[in-house]
Parts: sequence; structure tokens; C-alpha cells
Amino acid sequence: MSTLQFETNALHAGHDVTQTGGTRAVPIYQTTSYVFNNADHAANLFSLKELGFIYTRLNNPTNQILQERLAALEGGVGAVVFASGTAAISTGLLTLLRAGDHIVASSSLYGGTYNLLKVTLPRLGITTTFVDSSDPENFGKAVQENTRAFFAESLGNPKLDVLDLENISSEAKKAKVPFIVDNTVATPSLLNPIEYGANIVIHSLTKYIGGQGNSLGGVIVDAGNFDWDNGKFPEFTEPSAGYHGLKYYETLGAASFTFKLILEGLRDFGGALSPTNAFQIIQGLETLPVRIQKHSENALELAKWLQEQDEVAWVNYPGLEGNKYKALADKYLPKGQSGIVTFGAKKGYEAAKTIADNTKLFSLLANIGDTKSLIIHPASTTHQQLSDEEQEATGVTQDLIRLSVGLENVEDLKSDLKEAFKAVNLLVIQE
Ligand SMILES: *Cc1c(COP(=O)(O)O)cnc(C)c1O
Repeated sequence: MSTLQFETNALHAGHDVTQTGGTRAVPIYQTTSYVFNNADHAANLFSLKELGFIYTRLNNPTNQILQERLAALEGGVGAVVFASGTAAISTGLLTLLRAGDHIVASSSLYGGTYNLLKVTLPRLGITTTFVDSSDPENFGKAVQENTRAFFAESLGNPKLDVLDLENISSEAKKAKVPFIVDNTVATPSLLNPIEYGANIVIHSLTKYIGGQGNSLGGVIVDAGNFDWDNGKFPEFTEPSAGYHGLKYYETLGAASFTFKLILEGLRDFGGALSPTNAFQIIQGLETLPVRIQKHSENALELAKWLQEQDEVAWVNYPGLEGNKYKALADKYLPKGQSGIVTFGAKKGYEAAKTIADNTKLFSLLANIGDTKSLIIHPASTTHQQLSDEEQEATGVTQDLIRLSVGLENVEDLKSDLKEAFKAVNLLVIQE
């Protein structure tokens, strides 16, 4: 499969039709469990002497096809799917880390991830230093004795900062820690972080990969390029108390983390993906390359148009000339910069809320990456819980509106926003 191009893998990777009764579509294996041939077969599966299906919390044939396809598309040695992007992130970190560990993370993160690192993980003794990721050296400077991971988003949601993957990954190498990249907004179609040194790539499959706003899902792709034997990760080299003495790195080599995610992460935390959702996500994945190109074209066109509107203070889209991240976008996202655009309402917070309230085609909701266009005012919704300083660091200003530009005709989208701007002009803003 590795010799085939991206579009071809998006349709075929992982699915051997001779193994699924000749079904051209990937079937939904809606089962919780699998009949063993006999007691010895069962014992062999549990002891990993043979690989096979045991229970859907650990694996499932539909999920496995999705996993193999995503691994092929990101260039990893393996992938594990989860019930949501958040389940992928939390299970990934809890499988990798232990109390007393430290993460260095970009401050420009998805709101849910920011809260996980800032509030919830510290309760379990895992702390995070947030850094301004626009300077890769900030990651190295924040490293402590107990640092065991770097975490960042390749294209920050909603700040839209393009990460300098190559330089941050060399900081991670110096620190001998895995570099974890959330590649949700960029998608594997526009960017493969592993090519630039990422060790673990995460996606919310809920967004562009599923692409139609109907199913939650998440994935961790294991690049297989991290040296777990470097002295910092005894859980990979010493016998595992959680899996009858298995030495992950010795036994499983490059795929150690993939197996740890299944044998410990899914087994113990249980965030498995439903096979029905895996099926839906596969339908989306098949057309990802075509869709993300059109999302990117519509977003760039709309961003340019917004720059000319009187009601708009500023526009942020990494593909725009003059954008702070244009040079990095040219390097890392030359095929397109995805479908998220943010802009500032000239009259501030109330005006931004009013715009979000008055579009008709753009749906006011908390998601991105749907075929349909979406709008939200983060300061009053998704990022409401953050302090002013945190809102600033995550790139959420009071006047900011986030658009997830869909696949409608872009002229209709312009008209819809223009109508919403009229409502702002009628608004009497209290000074
Ligand atoms: C949505 C999102 C997540 C969380 O994914 P869910 O599937 O909603 O749990 C994580 N990271 C990014 C960048 C996202 O946009």
C-alpha cells in the first residue's frame, strides 16, 4: 500500500475485500466479542502468541480497517481509534505518563485540551508548562528533569498559528521526549507531521476526517520513530506489571506504543470507538482529499473578501498575504490551509455575538470541519471559562469570530455574512 498515492490510500488502505466476503464497502462489524476456535486459541490471543480479535473494547474489524487506513495516510507504523478526539488525547497521555511527569505544550490549543492539561491532569500529578510556540526554542527552555512529552497543534484551533514542526521536533529530540502533534485542523491530506519529526500524531476524527458532522471519533497514529530505550521510559523497557511482564520495546519494537495503547490504554480506560461510527468516519475519509481542497479554496476566497468589509477589523487565515504565519504555511501547508477563518468584529464583543446570532447558512454551533458552514463566538462560548490572559494566549480575543467554511457556493456565504453585518449596523453599542 505504501507505494500508492494519498487519494488511493484514502479509498483502499486497510481493506482486503477477500477478507470481508467481497464487500466493496467496508462492513460494519457490530459485535462486542469474537468466538474463539478453542481454549488454546483463546489463551494464545490473550498472551499475544497469536494476534486476533477478542473484544470490541480492544479491537474490531471495522475499526481495524480505519486504523490501518489512517496509519497509511499519516505514514505511521500503527494507529488506534477512540470514541472521540478527546478520548484519544487523554488516553494517549495517560498511557504514556505517570504522576510526577511534566509536559511542555503550546499555549495555542483546542479549549478542551487546554483544560485537560491545565486543570485535570495536575490533579493526577501531571503538570504542564505552556509556551508561546511561535519560537521553537521556547519548548527547549521549558524542559525540566521530569519532562516526558511535548504537545502542540500543527494548525492551532482557533489561533490558526502554523507550527514550525521541524524545529520543535529537534528540540524534542534534544530533550529525548516524544513530540505529540494534534493534526486535526490540517488533516493528513494537507500535512503529515511525521515527515517533519513528529513521533505521535492525534486527530479528532469528528472534524474534517469524518467531515459531515455526524460521528465523534479520535485516533492516535504511532510514527514508530521514537527511541523508547533512551532511559526515560522504563515502562517500555522493563517488564509491564499491567500486562503479565511484557517488555514492550523488546517484544514489539517500533509498534510498542500502538500496542500499549490497546493493551493498557483501551483496556483500562475503555474509550473505544463504536464500529458504526468507524463506518461513518470511513465514508468521510474516502473523500477527504477532495473536500479539504474545496474547504481550503472557499476559506481563502472568503478571507480575502472579509478583508474588504467595513464591519471587519482584522482577518486571520494562514494563506493570506501578509499573515504572520504565511511563510510557515508556504512550507508546511502548500496544498491548502484548511477551512477555518477567524476575524474580528470592528465594534467588539457585542457586535461579534450579534454576527454569530444573525447568519442563516452559517450554523451557530460548537464544531468545525463539517461540509456545512459553521460559526461561533469563542469568547462567549467555547473559551468562556478561560481568564482574559488565557484567552489571549489561546488566541481568543473578545471580538473574534471563528468560521468553519463549508462546501456551499462561496457567493452564498458572502451574502449570508453581509446580511448578518447589517444587524450589527442596527446595534447600539454601549460604550
Ligand atoms: C475538536 C478537537 C479536539 C477534540 O475532539 P472531539 O472529537 O471533539 O473530542 C481536539 N483537538 C482539536 C484541534 C479539535 O478541533
